[in-house]
Amino acid sequence: MPSITIIGSGPGGHIAAFEAARRGAEVTLIEKAEIGGTCLNWGCIPTKTLKSSAEALETAGRLEEFGIAAAGGEESVGFKADMEAVVARKERVRKVLCGGLEKTCSAMNIRIVRGSAELGAGKTVRVHTEEGVEEIKSDSIIIATGSSILELPSLPVDHKRIINSDDALDLDHVPGKMVIVGGGVIGCELAFIYRAFGSEVTIVEGLDRLLPIPSVDADMSKLLQREAKKHRIKVQLAKTVQKVEVVDDKVQCVLGPSPFVENAKGGETTIEADVVLVAVGRTPNTVGLNLAEAGVETDERGWIKADGNMRTSAEGIYAIGDVLGPARVMLAHVASAEGLCAVDNCLGIERALDYSVIPSGIFTSPEIGTVGLSEEEAARKGIEFRSQVFQFRELGKAQAMGELPGMFKIICEKESGKIIGAHIAGAHATDLIAEAGLAIKNGLTAADVAHTIHAHPTLAEGFYEVCEAWLRGC
Ligand code: FAD
Repeated sequence: MPSITIIGSGPGGHIAAFEAARRGAEVTLIEKAEIGGTCLNWGCIPTKTLKSSAEALETAGRLEEFGIAAAGGEESVGFKADMEAVVARKERVRKVLCGGLEKTCSAMNIRIVRGSAELGAGKTVRVHTEEGVEEIKSDSIIIATGSSILELPSLPVDHKRIINSDDALDLDHVPGKMVIVGGGVIGCELAFIYRAFGSEVTIVEGLDRLLPIPSVDADMSKLLQREAKKHRIKVQLAKTVQKVEVVDDKVQCVLGPSPFVENAKGGETTIEADVVLVAVGRTPNTVGLNLAEAGVETDERGWIKADGNMRTSAEGIYAIGDVLGPARVMLAHVASAEGLCAVDNCLGIERALDYSVIPSGIFTSPEIGTVGLSEEEAARKGIEFRSQVFQFRELGKAQAMGELPGMFKIICEKESGKIIGAHIAGAHATDLIAEAGLAIKNGLTAADVAHTIHAHPTLAEGFYEVCEAWLRGC
């Protein structure tokens, strides 16, 4: 029976463990913190649980719009976020999912070892457990240790006034004024959540658009900026926070023109906040792994180097997930896909992962879903393309739901009509993007989708409509 040792139990590690066990391998899964990794404990799931509370509060504030009045004839009913209850709900969800993972591991005979792992020579892993050091030798090792919050010396996190994304998931109160440093995915998601809870939010982004990620189409960033304005979230683009100082329980943030944008305008300004949330990036969890002794190469920033089959430079040692860094895609479902690919290769099936069609969900308000190429990427590849948009408000279902902001956008090869990119902003965009992913993966054209009957009235009709409009050329 082949044996596989997996270090880290996030969506990369635990999915690899399930797959390896299912295929008859003897599997050991090592975890030094909480089972489920960043995704379940400090990332995807906790943020989306908070987002659901934020949405419930927003809906409560719109009840009149839906014709709902207080029973008993009271004038008006007010609602607010009870952060202790919000965080308690998040904890309940987290524990249910973590508990489920442990039960599945046990049912599949996956041995969980709790402790901090380091690599030794000859495919050996040493685990520092509460009981002592355990040495595990196996045929293959998969490193799935993920990433941690990047800290900047100029923004020293004190977990009280200057906080990080982990802290933002456990706040016991709604801060009055919140400055969020970083307008990437995590910064924007938390901005809309805390704005819904009642904070006055300012996002400071060093580049010249929100979500400055090549795969996110520029139109989505523009739409999000408009929606941020409607939600009264202030956005400072091409600015960086140069200094923060806690004075009398407030944080003074000194903003200046960004060094990352050519000719960024403006001088220094100071804004005051109750809390500054730093969301500027991630750093690899490789410290203490003993990579050098095992012969596992990293790049200059410490991210592990692996080939398309997830093989590192050391024979029999694979790496998957966030620990591969931003050169790949740092998302939970990508870590899982890489985990499946690594297991295939551990078990002797040569397979490289196809990264060409990766959907991503951004849980702002409205949500954004993207898959395939952005216009910018298509242009850079020299592809002749034509784009089409269709507005959410034109859908009967969107009107019925009162969810008007948003758009469907497709990017198709000009001649063939093959869909090469799809970008959706609006209610449930992160679910709606799945159809576009399937279309792109299977090489479908706008005509293929437009000739597929879509149920009415649904938000999914928007994808049909945008393809239909592309065909008509309007
Ligand atoms: P991780 O999930 O980070 O797991 C690694 C595990 O390894 C950890 O449990 C760690 O304790 C353990 N470990 C590390 N070193 C050792 C060691 N030496 N010994 C033993 N164990 C070790 N992605 C999405 O797709 N959708 C989202 O909506 C989303 N939202 C996010 C929101 C936030 C706030 C954050 C921070 C991230 C979000 N992500 C999201 C990203 C997602 O969480 C990561 O891409 C994903 O968790 C990476 O999975 P992984 O298995 O590579 O690593």
